[in-house]
Amino acid sequence: MAITLNSGFKMPVLGLGVWRMDRNEIKNLLLSAINLGYRHFDCAADYKNELEVGEAFKEAFDTDLVKREDLFITTKLWNSDHGHVIEACKNSLKKLQLEYLDLYLIHFPMASKHSGIGTTRSILDDEGVLEVDATISLEATWHEMEKLVEMGLVRSIGISNYDVYLTRDILSYSKIKPAVNQIETHPYFQRDSLIKFCHKYGIAITAHTPLGGALANTERFGSVSCLDDPVLKKLSDKHNKSPAQIVLRWGVQRNTIVIPKSSKTKRLEENLNIFDFELSKEDMELIKTMERNQRSNTPAKAWGIDVYA
Ligand code: NAP
Repeated sequence: MAITLNSGFKMPVLGLGVWRMDRNEIKNLLLSAINLGYRHFDCAADYKNELEVGEAFKEAFDTDLVKREDLFITTKLWNSDHGHVIEACKNSLKKLQLEYLDLYLIHFPMASKHSGIGTTRSILDDEGVLEVDATISLEATWHEMEKLVEMGLVRSIGISNYDVYLTRDILSYSKIKPAVNQIETHPYFQRDSLIKFCHKYGIAITAHTPLGGALANTERFGSVSCLDDPVLKKLSDKHNKSPAQIVLRWGVQRNTIVIPKSSKTKRLEENLNIFDFELSKEDMELIKTMERNQRSNTPAKAWGIDVYA
């Protein structure tokens, strides 16, 4: 299943996120994922594994497992490269061994001190607070992103972690509208207003952290996993599907694109297997009651500043 972006290109509604994958396991995992049927991969310079991801893609193309044009590949501009958009994109393309990207996103609406192309360091000041670069506007960054489309390096461009205010703002100055806003959303953090706003203006929503981050975010950020919620257990029994499958199906049925990450082959299969059942209106309403307005990914822990404040 795919949706058509405002750029005219199609984007599969389910993809595989590659953050926090063990570099040594990436090649096998990605090849297994492609074998299982994954055609959409969500990467980022900051995941520091573009080289390994690129090697997996190369092997998949060289062995005719899949053709480049049948994959949808996203990567992201890191905060420290806002002043170097074109070089950063070329650097990601080189590591990924690709000639073009399907989607390139501004990872955060936050330019920080440059640390060298693609090094994606988040430098902190003496007080332990992120060294922001206040000389670069988001508008300037976006116009460089637009050049990437003109250069043929990127098919669609978009944003990530933009709220309603910033999304409204970019609509006013963009020559090419953002095709996608990638934001955290799951049953404990539903963000209906932002999603409604983006959809109204033709911007597709990718749900990052679509499972709520599960164990990984409990361990890293101390968040509570929605997958253990009794509402999901009830729906899981009703449909004979796992809580993760219920959550991903809910994400697709609310017209968002979901990019769960797993490093387990069995779960890769489980997460893909969500297109043979449907949640009823009542099921969807029930999941609505799970809202806790609880963000599970809080970079403030590393940056000493709450960028969502
Ligand atoms: P997630 O996909 O919501 O959750 C990943 C966690 O769920 C891992 O602990 C994984 O463990 C576990 N898991 C996967 N499938 C499961 C299943 N079927 N049942 C139970 N647990 C399961 O969170 P995420 O990895 O943080 O986010 C997904 C992707 O979104 C990332 O890879 C990245 O591409 C993107 N992202 C983007 C941003 C941004 O700022 N734009 C921020 C965060 C994430 P195992 O690996 O052990 O299976």
